[in-house]
Amino acid sequence: MALIEIRNLHASVDGKDILKGVDLVIEPGKVHALMGPNGTGKSTLSNIIAGRDGYTITDGDILLNGQSLLEMEPQDRALAGIFLSFQYPVEIPGVATSTFLKAAINARRRAAGEGEIDAMEFLKLVKAKAKELGVRDDMLKRPVNVGFSGGEKKRAEVLQMALMTPRFAILDETDSGLDIDALKVVADGVNALRSPDRSFLVITHYQRLLSYIVPDVVHVFAGGRIVRTGGPELAEELEAKGYADYTGAAA
Ligand code: ADP
Ligand code: MG
Ligand code: MG
Repeated sequence: MALIEIRNLHASVDGKDILKGVDLVIEPGKVHALMGPNGTGKSTLSNIIAGRDGYTITDGDILLNGQSLLEMEPQDRALAGIFLSFQYPVEIPGVATSTFLKAAINARRRAAGEGEIDAMEFLKLVKAKAKELGVRDDMLKRPVNVGFSGGEKKRAEVLQMALMTPRFAILDETDSGLDIDALKVVADGVNALRSPDRSFLVITHYQRLLSYIVPDVVHVFAGGRIVRTGGPELAEELEAKGYADYTGAAA
């Protein structure tokens, strides 16, 4: 069964139609890239999958393992395994990164009706994951994102993603504004988390990230829907030719 199936999704914001019939099927274990001109609804699609407020679904459905997500609250979607990465990490002065990560884990456990994670168990888990993803121990003691370099912020975010053990992770232009080192951090993190039962939707404007995270499938998104689908070579074609062929569809 598909992990994610989006059927004829139509949605509007403030009475303006943004999504105009999105169809997308993602099998377990696959990485799909979504590329396309700015302002055509890619972030709208991500936010709607994650369950954020402010959008009106006018038609269609989103299924996770065959079950509709549309009636589910954002926290229940997170619990079911949906993870949406933030483009702009927030700084939280006074809160150690490890404390923040523990709170995130506990929020999920509470939502699942489980007790809080044991302090020793948490320490073991976070240290193992941090090591796996190249996050230095001292970073865990520093306040969340405060004074972090671009690369460190991305490492912290990838670590959070790993600890949330998502079934379906969406990276919405996570690569925007990153230098090549930070880009590699994101790519290495995603590649380390690739597994047969986890899928990714990587939204990006540039082919650059996709030379490190090699996608299984590439889609072109324009005018509120997916207008073309291909393999990794499609990303290279877009890099070379741009989106001029598709901007008509966006109008
Ligand atoms: P993309 O991610 O492809 O750049 P977006 O999903 O951010 O596109 O935006 C698609 C369209 O929806 C744009 O025209 C944008 O102005 C509009 N839009 C998105 N979010 C909102 C919002 N919260 N309020 C009003 N308009 C919005
Ligand atoms: Mg945009
Ligand atoms: Mg966007």
